[in-house]
Amino acid sequence: MRKQSFFFSFFLFSLLLTFFLHWSCRPTARWYDTSLLFFDTICDLKIYGSRDQFALAVDEVRKTFARAERFFSPQANDYQSPEVRELFRRAKIIYFDSEGAFDLTVGLLSDIWGFRSKRYRVPEKDEIKRALTYIGMDKIQERGGQLIVPNGVILDWGAIAKGWAIDQAFQALKNIGIDRGFINAGGDLICWGKNPDNQAWRIGIKHPRESGFLGVLEIADLAVATSGDYQRYFEIKGVRYHHIFNPKTGFPARGRQSVTVIGPQATICDALATAVFVLDDPGELLKKYPEYGAIIVDDHGSLISAGKKFTFIPLK
Ligand code: ADP
Ligand code: MG
Repeated sequence: MRKQSFFFSFFLFSLLLTFFLHWSCRPTARWYDTSLLFFDTICDLKIYGSRDQFALAVDEVRKTFARAERFFSPQANDYQSPEVRELFRRAKIIYFDSEGAFDLTVGLLSDIWGFRSKRYRVPEKDEIKRALTYIGMDKIQERGGQLIVPNGVILDWGAIAKGWAIDQAFQALKNIGIDRGFINAGGDLICWGKNPDNQAWRIGIKHPRESGFLGVLEIADLAVATSGDYQRYFEIKGVRYHHIFNPKTGFPARGRQSVTVIGPQATICDALATAVFVLDDPGELLKKYPEYGAIIVDDHGSLISAGKKFTFIPLK
């Protein structure tokens, strides 16, 4: 009898111990977030997962963003890495689709307008005319596994590199099993899975002229990128000269205050936001990208939407 109760107690104890070990060793998932400094801006990362997954995720995002900075910074001149050639090819498709509104060769324009040195100036008409002869992605050939960039042509990855970095980081996080998260690189972002309140993500779109938001997007599993004339600009005699160029005129593009593009890939959103900013009528371009939509603020401050519609709640 005593023996039986001993075995019973032992059995009960083992059972409890198993349960306890199971619960205490199980990696508990919760939300983690952190901020990193890349691309001259603050990048936010928010993920749902275990502590180990979070540590891995931070590491992956750091590595990916550092690679993006190495390949695509204004000083970069690596024309043979597979990543560089691949992004060039994707950019060239958007160059053709946008009839040259998006153009990686605007580097010389950024240069003569002083956006690279931060010594801003309005160039002489002749200087702009001369610069335009170095603009056009069709001037760049791919030969023997590398890009041939003619002398004087300057590649400028500023309108697509952040989007690329976000997509790469997102893929890396999906690969380590993170199925809810948010990566924001200075306003260009991707969100996936449910947000911490178990709902769609609510993304505030910055007002181009006032502090605060223009409105709120309610989205899931989508990327968002914004191009604005308020991000980098200088003013002379009341005229605002900003960093998004019309490659046809050599002048900062007119007619827009901001363009936000929403869609599945951050790379495409980033490039399309710049292209739509330049184009007078983005209808034809967006028809080629049916999964993408744009929220445009024109130069009078009016809201226009183009392409695919997403849930957007204007605040004013
Ligand atoms: P941000 O860098 O503020 O996120 P964008 O994504 O709109 O802004 O990219 C603007 C940058 O893209 C400019 O600083 C310049 O480097 C580059 N750029 C400017 N005009 C064009 C253009 N027409 N096509 C491609 N890239 C451009
Ligand atoms: Mg862009």
